[in-house]
Amino acid sequence: MGLERVADGVWLLRGDLRRGMNVYFVEDGDGVVQFDGGARSMRKQARAAGEQLGGIKRVVLGHAHADHRGTAPYMGAPVFCHADEVADAESDERFSPYMDLSKLPVAPVRWIYPALFRRWDGGPVKIAGTVEEGDEIAGFRVIHFPGHAPGLIGLWRESDRVALVSDVVYLVDSARLKALPEGEVSLPHPAFTWDHQQAKDSARKLAALEPRVVGTGHAEPLRGENLRQKLERAAEQG
Ligand SMILES: [Zn+2]
Repeated sequence: MGLERVADGVWLLRGDLRRGMNVYFVEDGDGVVQFDGGARSMRKQARAAGEQLGGIKRVVLGHAHADHRGTAPYMGAPVFCHADEVADAESDERFSPYMDLSKLPVAPVRWIYPALFRRWDGGPVKIAGTVEEGDEIAGFRVIHFPGHAPGLIGLWRESDRVALVSDVVYLVDSARLKALPEGEVSLPHPAFTWDHQQAKDSARKLAALEPRVVGTGHAEPLRGENLRQKLERAAEQG
C-alpha cells in the first residue's frame, strides 16, 4: 500500500510526481482522520489507505491550495478547514487570488505551473465545517500558522513532539522545481504566498514548539533534535 509510519498512530501516503505530495492519516478511535488532500491523482490510493485503516471519518485540509485539496472531493467524508480557507477551498479557481507566478525567477518554471496545478487540483471542495487554533483532532491540537495561506493550520501533539504542518516550511525549491540540499529547510516562495512576513512568523512559531518530527506537505518528514535551529534559520533566510 505504500503507507509509511511517521509516529505512533500517524501514517503518510506519498504520491504524484516524484512522490512529492503528502497525505497523512491519524488514527482516531476505529478509523482515521485524513490531514491534507494532496493531489487528485492520489485519490484511489488515499481511499484504499483510508479503508485499510478502518475508514476515513473526516478530511482536514492544512490549507486550500490546489495541491492540498486534490483528493478531498473524492474521499466520501466531510471536509473541514480553517475559516480563512473556506472561500479558496470552495472556489472554482485553481490559483488563490494572491498568487503571482510573475515573481518566479525561472521562466520555464513560470510556464509549467498552470499545467501542474491543473494536474494536481481536484476542483472545488464542499466544506462541512471549520476548525481553529486550540481545537483537538485525534489527539492533536490545531495550531494556526498564517502566512503561506491565511488559514494554514498544522496539527501538534506535545507528548511526542510531532507536528504535521502542511506548507509552513518547504523541503523542496518551488521556484526551481527541485529538491533542496539534504537537510535544508526553506519557506515557500513568495509567488505562492499570501503574506511572506507572517509566513516567517509562523515558521518561528513552529520552531518555538521544539518539534522532533515535522511532517511537511511535500517530501520526507524532518526528524531530529536540532529542528528548532533549522526552522529558525529558514525564517531568517526566507
Ligand atoms: Zn501551498
